[in-house]
Amino acid sequence: MNYDFTEDQRLIKDNFSRFCRKEIEPKAASLDRVPDKESEKLLRENIKKLASLGYLGMAHEEKYGGSGLDTLTQSIAGEEVARACASTYLSAGASCGLFGLPLRHFGSDEQKRKYLPGIISGEKIGCFGLTEPGAGSDAAGINTRAEKKGGKWIINGTKTFITNAPVADAALIFAYTDRNAGPGSGITSFIVESGTPGFVTGKPFDKMGFRGSPTSEIFLDNCAVDEDAVLGQPGRGFAQAMKTLEYGRIGMATVCLGIAVASMEAAECYSRERQQFGKPINRFQEVGFKLADMMIYTDLSRLLIYRAAWAKDTGDPESAVLASCAKLFASEAAARCADMAVQIHGGYGYMKGCVVERLFRDARLCEIGEGTSEIQRGIIAGDLIKKYGA
Ligand SMILES: Cc1cc2nc3c(=O)[nH]c(=O)nc-3n(C[C@H](O)[C@H](O)[C@H](O)COP(=O)(O)OP(=O)(O)OC[C@H]3O[C@@H](n4cnc5c(N)ncnc54)[C@H](O)[C@@H]3O)c2cc1C
Repeated sequence: MNYDFTEDQRLIKDNFSRFCRKEIEPKAASLDRVPDKESEKLLRENIKKLASLGYLGMAHEEKYGGSGLDTLTQSIAGEEVARACASTYLSAGASCGLFGLPLRHFGSDEQKRKYLPGIISGEKIGCFGLTEPGAGSDAAGINTRAEKKGGKWIINGTKTFITNAPVADAALIFAYTDRNAGPGSGITSFIVESGTPGFVTGKPFDKMGFRGSPTSEIFLDNCAVDEDAVLGQPGRGFAQAMKTLEYGRIGMATVCLGIAVASMEAAECYSRERQQFGKPINRFQEVGFKLADMMIYTDLSRLLIYRAAWAKDTGDPESAVLASCAKLFASEAAARCADMAVQIHGGYGYMKGCVVERLFRDARLCEIGEGTSEIQRGIIAGDLIKKYGA
């Protein structure tokens, strides 16, 4: 086994690290507010900057403007983006990943040509509309439906908690087209452009964390789309969503890692400079042990992410459960690291404007989004029982 990066991966890590520290990180505090026109402008600028570095096209085919890099290399770059600004990472990922990847894997050439170049260049933003007010963990329990009338699909329903919905140019909307096909089986995914009559987004939610990444509801009221809005085969939407979320979990694990690393770095720096009892607080064993734990949490998260990414790239049948393991561990590690970083900052860590206060709030989403920790544990336990059970 070889733990070395390739030369290209090393270059990518260095480039992204330098670029994100200079261009993305300084804006992270300004983005941390209830989304408004100014923060939307900042977010779009950040997304375009990442596009200029090739970030949004890493997972996409060259013919649409991408570079077709492997998942492991994407995680290496992603850690640097997330470390600099978790909100920018989330919105960029929802656009080129949650919206872009289903197009890459299941879209027609025409659909790819129409949407992917704009997504990869950062000119356009996409979103992924699965969750509904009554269906989160139980994604097959959605109520949105689409009926064929006069050659058009008419979509009705409500989506909620959708990352990028307030700023998106296009959304992937999951809706039942056949209620009799059984839970999940009759779901179809539709590409719906934001200007389509009957497609309305709600006001951005006032969130605890990831405030720079706008989230809202989507209301679909007799929203009519043509046959060519159907992604892949009708009835395959649930399988497409689950496949996308396997990648999404590696992506979510990577934002967790970025938050954990940023927390560790901030705590290390503060503990070196802050003096109490006549010496830097990092000389106290209780503080040093926290830093040691943070180092192990970040390194283990990284190893699990790389392993899951490697499994995905090599077609390992374990890749889905490994993505759940990485997401579960990295999300809990991010929460622990952000919490320890606040503790090391003492009262200053509790004040608005202190970087670890933001990281602490951002970290809380990690155990909820893209499948809660309880759902991940259920997936991992189910897999174990299948392997070793009766
Ligand atoms: C900021 C943010 C951004 C998001 N972005 C998107 C997006 O872009 N697109 C999208 O489609 N969705 C998005 N989501 C939705 C997200 O995926 C869901 O919030 C998540 O899957 C949980 O669903 P829920 O909130 O309805 O909670 P619920 O499913 O109602 O869960 C509530 C609690 O019950 C537990 N629970 C539920 N079922 C079980 C079970 N079987 N076993 C054990 N415990 C269980 C959960 O673990 C949790 O603790 C986003 C959410 C947030 C907060």
